[in-house]
Amino acid sequence: MADTTLMDKLVSLCKRRGFVFQSSEIYGGLGSVWDYGPLGVALKKNLKDRWWHAMVQARDDIEGLDAAILMHPKVWEASGHVAGFTDPLVDCKHCKNRFRADDPRIKGTPGQPDAQCPVCGSRGTLTEPRLFNLMFKTFMGPVEDQAAIVYLRPETAQGIYVNYLNVLNSSRQKVPFGIAQIGKAFRNEITPGNFIFRTREFEQMEMQFFVKPGTDVEWFERWRAWRMEWCEGLGLTPAKLRFHQHGPDELAHYAKDAFDIQYEFPFGWQEIEGVHNRTDFDLGRHQQYSGKKLEYFDQAANERYLPYIVETSAGADRVTLTVMVDAYREETVEGETRVVLGFHPALAPIKAGVFPLVKKDGMPELATDVYQALKPRFPVFYDDSGAIGRRYRRMDEAGTPFCVTIDGETVANRTVTVRHRDSMKQDRVALDQLEAYLRDQLAL
Ligand code: ATP
Repeated sequence: MADTTLMDKLVSLCKRRGFVFQSSEIYGGLGSVWDYGPLGVALKKNLKDRWWHAMVQARDDIEGLDAAILMHPKVWEASGHVAGFTDPLVDCKHCKNRFRADDPRIKGTPGQPDAQCPVCGSRGTLTEPRLFNLMFKTFMGPVEDQAAIVYLRPETAQGIYVNYLNVLNSSRQKVPFGIAQIGKAFRNEITPGNFIFRTREFEQMEMQFFVKPGTDVEWFERWRAWRMEWCEGLGLTPAKLRFHQHGPDELAHYAKDAFDIQYEFPFGWQEIEGVHNRTDFDLGRHQQYSGKKLEYFDQAANERYLPYIVETSAGADRVTLTVMVDAYREETVEGETRVVLGFHPALAPIKAGVFPLVKKDGMPELATDVYQALKPRFPVFYDDSGAIGRRYRRMDEAGTPFCVTIDGETVANRTVTVRHRDSMKQDRVALDQLEAYLRDQLAL
């Protein structure tokens, strides 16, 4: 399968089955903004829940937070985003398209007569690179003047830094400890694309871990390993995951060390999560700009210091795309192609399909009972339309790990068939054991 074809097929499957739709589609769509349909929202929620479970619920040293999207404008001065969150851009004077100056499709040097526009092919029409701020601006209050400008946050991390003392003082935590949050972020990206890989509105799952200076390197190494383990635990192909360490040219000026976790997409190796040793830069800047002391007082050692921060930052949409790309496969079964999304059972939007084999002999009634009994326990889907083979295929495309079929034997001896998505093998399970069987298989 050609790689571009895989992305095209995935985009089309996502629309057909209700994973992801283009935003405002009936108006022609809004550039690089996407909406999640019934299956997509469930998939992404399962992913976020898994992250929250690993980062907050299962640990004693991390607290959760949900900071607002809108923040005081000074936050973005302190963070460096007002001055530095810029990309050098070039415009084509002919077709009016705008590109990143480092867009590999540009031939020649922008601003020079030899430079060629990658879209319309004109020569000498590309402007000199100019800096462009990636933050979306809006106005707070009734008057659209300068004083009222606020930004849509381009990352969730700043909400954590400015709340670090609030969390510390209201919880029982002591350094080392972390704060985690999941939330929307907005960037006016210039070359967005590759479906939900790079979008203008997206969700981040970020955790900032506050440590004593001098212990940062060991914490950084721990977090690097834990985060890779978590990615592997999503069932992603291990050979398609790797670390990429930032070289001196990539490393942010404040960062001591940074690793990306990369996945091999059909369009190449790309970052899905960053693990950064941010030193005391963030708290130092907020201390300076707010004039409020943000030091930590270690009572036992009777010393004061500004903690260092180890950050783990993943995109919920980007990881959702990774999960879908990795899960997509086509197989030939009895001369027909079956499309399967082989999701990890914990991520699958629907855990089991429930089908009566035929619409008679009491099977629909029994199947409805089974469906109603399972529904409060986990997401299940009832389907009685079409041949059983077609119903299996529909569940394969939705990534549903199990299908439960109620047939003639169910009526006779109270057993059902459980068909496994990946192996297509079928087990006979007693009705009164069904929930326990599924729970066990799903490892819930
Ligand atoms: P990239 O260079 O790929 O845009 P970045 O280095 O700017 O990413 P960070 O600022 O480190 O990314 O953000 C952390 C994570 O947030 C990324 O690993 C990615 O998963 C996600 N992310 C960042 N920008 C976007 C975006 N425009 N759309 C979707 N996810 C994003």
